[in-house]
Amino acid sequence: MPSFVILEKCDGCKALDKTACQHICPNDLIVLNKETMKAFNCEPEMCWECYNCVKICPTQAVEVRGYADFVPLGAAVTPLRGTDTIMWTVKFRNGTLKRFKFPIRTTEEGKAVPDGGWGTGTDDLKSPVLFTEPDSAGLPNIPSLKVTQ
Ligand code: SF4
Ligand code: SF4
Repeated sequence: MPSFVILEKCDGCKALDKTACQHICPNDLIVLNKETMKAFNCEPEMCWECYNCVKICPTQAVEVRGYADFVPLGAAVTPLRGTDTIMWTVKFRNGTLKRFKFPIRTTEEGKAVPDGGWGTGTDDLKSPVLFTEPDSAGLPNIPSLKVTQ
């Protein structure tokens, strides 16, 4: 089920140039109605249900109706993202609340090193092994099959 905006909770990201949900959607699906200052998903059939807009919304105004294999039917799932953790609140049909908190970072915000500090070498694009290997695999070489003619 695609994402949808709960209008009462949406404040239009307080009239920033681009709202948080517009900024994060990989499909550019979110539109801000400039008159009402409320966002909405303009093409629900194109939504991947990636939850990016749900997680980034500062007012918890975006929801996705979860499939039954992810959350029991009729339950609501709401994330609250902090700088180093995310807490998911599941509200069941009978009103029961359960909360799950998970770490989302291993480094402080803004301190992540893009290549993880692994040596990449100058011939990386020609190499058959993955980026940062073999160093990140803790091996001197990545084992490979020998091709015999
Ligand atoms: Fe509204 Fe949330 Fe989108 Fe901001 S991120 S425009 S508050 S739905
Ligand atoms: Fe875009 Fe993902 Fe939100 Fe769907 S769930 S509107 S694809 S950010």
